[in-house]
Amino acid sequence: MMNKEETLVVFSGGQDSTTCLFWAIKHFKKVYALSFLYGQKHQKEVEYARAIAQEAGVEFEAKDVSFIAELGRNSLTDISIQMDEEQPVGSFPNTFVPGRNLFFLSVAAVYAREKGINHLVTGVSQTDFSGYPDCRDGFIKSLNVTLNLAMDEQFVIHTPLMWIDKAQTWALADELGVLQLVRTKTLTCYNGEMGDGCGHCPACKLRREGLETYLATKK
Ligand code: ZN
Repeated sequence: MMNKEETLVVFSGGQDSTTCLFWAIKHFKKVYALSFLYGQKHQKEVEYARAIAQEAGVEFEAKDVSFIAELGRNSLTDISIQMDEEQPVGSFPNTFVPGRNLFFLSVAAVYAREKGINHLVTGVSQTDFSGYPDCRDGFIKSLNVTLNLAMDEQFVIHTPLMWIDKAQTWALADELGVLQLVRTKTLTCYNGEMGDGCGHCPACKLRREGLETYLATKK
């Protein structure tokens, strides 16, 4: 029997998935966090994720799936590729790891099933999707159906951030009482700097603009 009181969060230790982790803690009795090592340049992000999970009192596991970095070239895993600072017109930024969310969520579903969990949480957002097709709602809904058909289960993929932007994600973190934690202990920066980050990579820009917008509305 699947347990409706437990959930598994696909957790990277970044702003979005950390906010989702605390969203899950609010809505479920027991929360598990699953991180992936996928050959990312900044492997310490998994250690930050572990520390946050520990502070939140959540069971944490990291799975090594770094072979996916060998399948396709992208600037998050390949040090020889200069990272796109802006999204190129008409194509994906080279920070795109093809199939990443498809793969992570599929692995997460198998892992969750093993534990008798059918609720999955992911921090993808169509609003600030940075050109990544696997962050869109249509993909998640389609995958949800596919996972159910693949394993004859009733998975429910929760996407608390799907229709909110970065400023609203900060607002949600604040509402959940973890604004400072998310601000100082998460890693979103593509250059591997924790908290407010390097300030100039696309992830830092998006994060900072969102925070500034949110803090301006608070005053
Ligand atoms: Zn940065």
